[in-house]
Formats: sequence, structure tokens, C-alpha cells
Amino acid sequence: MRTIANTVLRLAIGTAAVLGIAALYGYAVQVRLAVVAATLLLPVLFVSSAWGLRYALFQCAISTLAYNYFFLPRISSAVDTAWDWMAWFTFLVTGITASQLAERARRESRNADRRRTDAVAAQQRFTDLVDAVEGVVWEADADTLACSFVSRQAERTLGYPTEQWLREPAFWRDHLHPDDRAQAARVFEEVRIEKRPRDIEYRMIAADGRVVWLRDLVSVVVENGRATRLRGLMVDVTRRKYDETMLREQADLLNVTHDAIFVRTMDDAITFWNRGAEALYGWTAEEAAGKIPFELLATVFPAPLEEIRSDVIRFGRWEGELTHTRKNGARVVVASRWTLRRDERGVPLSILENNNDITERKATEETLQKMQAALTHATRVNTLGEVTASFAHELNQPLAAIVNNADACLGLLPDARPELGEIREALTDIAADARRASAIIERVRALARRSVAEKTQLRLAEVVAEVAALTATDAVVRRVTIHTDVPADLPVVLGDRIQLQQVLLNLIVNAIDAMGAVHESERRLVIRGRTDTDGAQPAVRVSVEDRGVGLRAEDASRLFEAFYTTKPQGMGLGLAISRSIIEAHGGRLLAEPNQGPGATFSICLPTAQASAAA
Ligand code: ADP
Repeated sequence: MRTIANTVLRLAIGTAAVLGIAALYGYAVQVRLAVVAATLLLPVLFVSSAWGLRYALFQCAISTLAYNYFFLPRISSAVDTAWDWMAWFTFLVTGITASQLAERARRESRNADRRRTDAVAAQQRFTDLVDAVEGVVWEADADTLACSFVSRQAERTLGYPTEQWLREPAFWRDHLHPDDRAQAARVFEEVRIEKRPRDIEYRMIAADGRVVWLRDLVSVVVENGRATRLRGLMVDVTRRKYDETMLREQADLLNVTHDAIFVRTMDDAITFWNRGAEALYGWTAEEAAGKIPFELLATVFPAPLEEIRSDVIRFGRWEGELTHTRKNGARVVVASRWTLRRDERGVPLSILENNNDITERKATEETLQKMQAALTHATRVNTLGEVTASFAHELNQPLAAIVNNADACLGLLPDARPELGEIREALTDIAADARRASAIIERVRALARRSVAEKTQLRLAEVVAEVAALTATDAVVRRVTIHTDVPADLPVVLGDRIQLQQVLLNLIVNAIDAMGAVHESERRLVIRGRTDTDGAQPAVRVSVEDRGVGLRAEDASRLFEAFYTTKPQGMGLGLAISRSIIEAHGGRLLAEPNQGPGATFSICLPTAQASAAA
């Protein structure tokens, strides 16, 4: 609608202009035809340049008609019609040509405008594109490295305005990290000389003092065989570098530990193998990479692998004992801890396996178990002997009394009374039986005393160490620290290892019991070993010194009696058995109160040399 109105308006303006001119010249006298024509051409030119060819042609037609109608016959009545037509035709052609020229000029100016706009738009698009790149696009002189272009990302990456990059000829060099200056300059020089692109990483110092790691993809512009400019794309890789450093440090940390640690994917391919694993299993990290750990290590599991695997997925961890086979074929028992790693969405990523070699500990545990079993057995045998000996001691007296009484009765009975014959006979039997019982008990007692078994040459330091190991757990639980000071070079003694261990064990357990009531910080037990020159023969003394309740003078004499105990659960046999064992070894077992709190129980055993001489 608006277009139609616009068109009508323009046509009306053009027609009005022509009629105006006709009216103007209509009153003028003697007007020249050329002046009229030139005037009528003015609106044609104006319309053509302002509104285009279509309006110009209309204007031309109106002007020509007006020229013909208003002026030709009137002005040139003297001229014949052929000339009139010639003038009219010339006006028409001039009008059309002028219209076309004006239109062309108009179009060219419009094209020039469009080209200018296009160039500006292209420039803007280029700038937008370069600025949108997640990196700094730059160009610099190949010789001086002075920047001739840098994208706005530079400002965001390092904080310096882009104008500063362009203004300062040595900007790049000045803001390089001092440690990277030489290497980066060398690479840029190589790019210039070799005319080949390079990929380089270096640090720059940002405006706020931060150190920024940049990866720079540098290329070279060669003109006439000469490198004239360098161009590049710098990408901020600080985060990646930081992650890499973190990972490396973590891997280094995992390498510091002696545990064998490896990581495997959920498909069981090894991706990490620390130095501990190299040392324990014998395969290097390169050899292990990508392998399936269970196949490589011929793992023996305590439960089906699938069960363990589902436990790990469910609880995120698993712990247990595994048996592995090393590269050299040796078996190794490990305490294994598996930890599941998940990504941020919770999808299982990998399993970290931390293995601690417990082969020796297992062997020691087994030996200790065997020793404990042996000790229990020895204790049983000795207890039996001691009980028997005690019974024998207790029974001997009444038996002796029976014998005495029977003898007395016999002495009192008159010989000639035949009715008393039977009584005599019976009493004789009593006496005989009692003697026989006594003899039997004596034999059992002798047997009990002789129950000491194999004697070998022993180092008491070893015996003490073995017993200390046996009692270590109990000591920790009961907050007692055990300190041993038994020189390894003490003279050897001749003895039964198990029995001597049993004696020491008994003394240590008693000492720990005696310290149950004292403050935890005071629960200290010292086992000392010394050569002993007090006695008649060279001996070795091992003493167990505690800071417990100590010994009362009135109890001291009874400690070694069988069944003497002050403990609610005590049997009162330990010290009695111990003394009988030590005496059977030709030694002495002593109990002394300390100067300060507690008591000291000592074993004195003749040296092997002294025993042999005896
Ligand atoms: P039990 O330990 O079964 O009581 P023992 O024969 O080993 O039997 O000990 C007898 C008693 O000797 C103990 O009940 C205790 O009263 C006393 N005794 C043993 N060792 C110590 C010690 N280190 N300090 C104080 N008293 C002790």
C-alpha cells in the first residue's frame, strides 16, 4: 500500500515539476528552445539519480510531451515541422541517455557502498572469529619478534591489554618466565631458520603475577624464500600442567611406599604398576602394562573372583589374603586391599590394589603357633609331674605314720597269745602295704623330677627374644612395655629350650599380672641378661624386673610352694614348676623385692662349659 502511494507521489511530483516549468516559460517571451530543453532535462536527471530508471523514463516521457505540446509549435512557428520533430526527437534521446547515465552513476555509487559495507562486515567477522578462538592468535616479525597482531583472548589469558602487546617491541620476551626464556627463544629461532612449524610449551608471567603455562603452535610466513613473519596460536594449558604435576606427584608418592600397588581397569588391564610392585613381583611397569594381573601373578583367591568383584562394586572396597607367584616362580602371600575408583557420574573406572607382603609374618605366625602348642604340651607334662610330686610329698607323712603306728602295735602285742596271731599278721600286712605305697609314690616322684628332656646348647638371648615375641600381643593389650637387654654374646648354656621358654614365659606373665593394678605409665618390664660370677661356678643370670605390687616378706618363702596363689584364677603351680625345671638344669630360681616398686625374679644357669665340667 505504501509502495503504491509512494509511486503515485513521485509521479505526481515529476508531472508537477514539468507543468511548473511549462507555466514558468509560458509567460516568458522569446524563450529559446535550448533553454526550455535544458530546464526540462533537470527534473529528468533529478528523478533518475534519486529514484531510478523507471521514474526517469516516465519523467522523460512527460517532459517530452510537454516540450512538444507547450513549446514546439509556439516558439518555432517559423521553423518547418521536420525541424520540430528533429528537436523533439533530440530532446527525447538526450533525456533517455541522461537518465541512463544518471542511473549508472547511481548504481555504481550503490555498489561502492555495498562493497564498503561488505569489507567492514568481513573485517568484523574475522575479528569475531579470531576472538572466539579459545586461544591467543598472534603474528610477529620473524626477526625482532615484535607483535603485529594479537587477538583479544590475550587480554583474558594474561591480563595485559592487547595494545601493550603491539606497542612494546619486546613484550613477549619480557614476560616470559625466566627459566623458559632461553629454550623458547631457541625454538623460535629454529622455526625462523628451518621454516618449519613447531609446537612448544613455556610459561609466561601474567599481569597479576600468576605463572601461566602456554602451548604455542608456531608457524612461519615465507616470502621470497625468507621467513618474514611468525604466526601462532597460544593455548592456556596451566590446568592440564597442574593435573599432570599432581598425577606425577601422586605416582611418585605411590612409588615411595614399599607396598606393591597397581591399578587395573574394569576389564582387568593393568594401567599403573608402582616400584613396590616391580620389587615384589619382578616384572617392570612396562612388562606389566596392559596384562591381566590374575594371570600374570597366578593369583590364588580365598573366594571365587566373581564374589570378590561384586563385593568391590557394592562396597567400594575389599580386603583379604592372596597368594601370588613372582616372576622367579616363588610364592608370596599378601594382605590385599582393593579400592574402587569411580568417575564423577559414579561409573566404576578402575580398581586400585594395594598389596603388602606378609609371607614372613605368616611363616613366623605358624612357627609361633607350633611353639605355643609345644609349650602347652610341656606345661601339661610338667604340671602333671608337679601335682604328682606334691601328692607324694603330702601323702608320705601319713603313710609314714601308718607304718610307725603299725610297727608300734606289733611291738606292744605279747608273743604267746595265739588269738593275737591273726592281728599281728594283719598289722604286718598294713606295714608292708604302707611301705609298698610309699615306695610307689617315691618312684613316681622320682619320675616327675626326671621329666626334663633334651638338653642342647642354647643362647639365652634367643630364648628371651622368642618368649618376648610370644608375649608381645598380651603386653600391648595390657599396656605394658617390655624392654630386653640380653647381650647376644652371653656364654651358651645347656638346657631344654621349651622348658626354659616355659619358665621365662611364666615369669613374664606373672610380672604383667603384678602390674595390672599400677598406673599405665608405670607398667614397664625389663629383661636383663648378665654373666654371673657370684656362685661357685660360672653362670648366666636372666632377670625379669617389674614395677608391680612387689613381694611381702611373709609371702616370700611360700611363693615356690605348689598351689600357693594370691590370684582369684591362679593355680599356684607356675613358680613351683619353674623352680623344679631350673633346679633340674643345675641352676637356681630367685625372687627379690626391688629397691623401688616391684619385684625381680632371676634364673641362674651354669654355663654349658661349667655344666660339662660338672
Ligand atoms: P599363679 O600365677 O597361678 O598364682 P605362680 O606360682 O606363678 O602361680 O605364682 C604364685 C604367686 O606368686 C602369685 O599368685 C603371686 O602372688 C606371686 N607372684 C608371682 N610373681 C610375682 C611378681 N612378679 N610380683 C609379685 N608377686 C608375684
